[in-house]
Amino acid sequence: MPTVITHAVVGSALVLLKPHDVPLRRLLIVLAVLPIIPDLDVIGFRFGIAYGDPLGHRGFTHSILFAGITAVLVKALMFRNIPSGSKPGIGIVALCFLSTMSHGVLDAFTDAGLGVGFFIPFENSRYFFPWRPIATSPLSVDGFLSARGLNILANEAIWIGIPFVAFSTTVLIVKRILRRKT
Ligand SMILES: [Zn+2]
Repeated sequence: MPTVITHAVVGSALVLLKPHDVPLRRLLIVLAVLPIIPDLDVIGFRFGIAYGDPLGHRGFTHSILFAGITAVLVKALMFRNIPSGSKPGIGIVALCFLSTMSHGVLDAFTDAGLGVGFFIPFENSRYFFPWRPIATSPLSVDGFLSARGLNILANEAIWIGIPFVAFSTTVLIVKRILRRKT
């Protein structure tokens, strides 16, 4: 995985697409926390679940179905007062889905480990994208605090930081143009 910090930063960038009438701070926290959840699957190692198992690391919790279920549940629990069928309601579910899914997508760009089980439980193969420039972060804190940790942050600054700034700038420019038109 990229580092936890990077996952959280990428997810929180989606708040730029916040629908009207949705509380900003609550949505920002939710979008920052959701991309951290998929890696809770490492708990499975303690219970003897193998990496390559559908419930193993980068398995079900990194899938499209998991992101969908999580998005619907988070909307129901955290934004109860916003009607589900309304534009803001659908917007929240979509943003929560994208935020959770961003984790698996970034993992599929990393250079080590097994691929991501995007289609679990329907199909158990693991996938990487053909281009994998992102350095895999060690799962342990000790491993991360080694010299390699700094190299990884530098690598993420380039391969995730630059697209992140480009995305944020584009959204802000488009929003400003649209606002001027109305
Ligand atoms: Zn992961």
